[in-house]
Amino acid sequence: MIEPRPIVRAESLRKSFRGPSKGFRRGHAELRAVDGVTLDVMPGETLGLVGESGCGKSTLGRLLLRLYEPTSGRVYFDGTEITTLSQSALRPFRRKMQIIFQDPYSSLNPRMTVRATLAEALRAHSLVGSSSEEEERIAALLRRVGLRPEHMRRYPHEFSGGQRQRIGIARALAVSPSFIVADEPVSALDVSIQAQIVNLLSDLQQELGLSFLFIAHDLHVVEHVSRRVAVMYLGRVVELATSEQIYENPRHPYTQALLSAAPEPDPHAEKRRLILEGDVPSPLDPPPGCFFHPRCPIAEKGLCDREVPALRRVESGHEVACHLA
Ligand code: SF4
Repeated sequence: MIEPRPIVRAESLRKSFRGPSKGFRRGHAELRAVDGVTLDVMPGETLGLVGESGCGKSTLGRLLLRLYEPTSGRVYFDGTEITTLSQSALRPFRRKMQIIFQDPYSSLNPRMTVRATLAEALRAHSLVGSSSEEEERIAALLRRVGLRPEHMRRYPHEFSGGQRQRIGIARALAVSPSFIVADEPVSALDVSIQAQIVNLLSDLQQELGLSFLFIAHDLHVVEHVSRRVAVMYLGRVVELATSEQIYENPRHPYTQALLSAAPEPDPHAEKRRLILEGDVPSPLDPPPGCFFHPRCPIAEKGLCDREVPALRRVESGHEVACHLA
């Protein structure tokens, strides 16, 4: 059987930022935010991307959309390498790749009505002709995300956090994308509202056949929407598997610890309870060998503190970067 082509593919993707000065004549430290990530997002799938704050998830999301330029590595969209395209050659791809931001409070212009916000997205890609056609499109978009057409005349401050996130989703949908990076889309919302937004994204994914990279710091947020999940630690993917494999049989000690720490009652947690100690090391000065070794309860001296574990297949569809998994 021929495997479908990924809608998005990252190949050995790296992104370094200039860190603080190391002192006179010693240049600047290097902050490796994304450190050699290879992964695919398949057509019509939601890939969950999970890890603690500062592990490089958002940077990876922006690299896939070419909102950041990679330090090295490649990104492909539907088979075309986009890493080397000029801004004008990239334009048709921009429409196909959208982002939903974490903070619905700051991602909308407070001086623009909802209509003006959505019209701006439609006009940027010449997707509507007359003003009545534009109004119809905007009304349909608002209905699609659970708002009412009359909401188009209001300003962002007249909405709740959940409603503002729905406007952000409508703005992403306006240009009929095929791939959306949802960057912690529910982290800034009340717990009671989070499930509504997750369900809306799940419905849209199924109805429109969209592909999502769903970024979250809590594994349970992505559990019911993701077909597969990638777990990141200090810029590297340490485990990548189907949702079933991740939640039933996590193989990497970091994934096991994330699941143990989850506040939700988890029937599997007791038998694998692992408490993470210490803080995430600084990406300016990552430890040698396995980046997780200073916090890993089963680290082996002489191995884990020396050798970098490669991401390797442990069963069909399940990859782990751990010497002992
Ligand atoms: Fe722990 Fe070693 Fe596996 Fe890293 S490679 S997760 S330190 S056991």
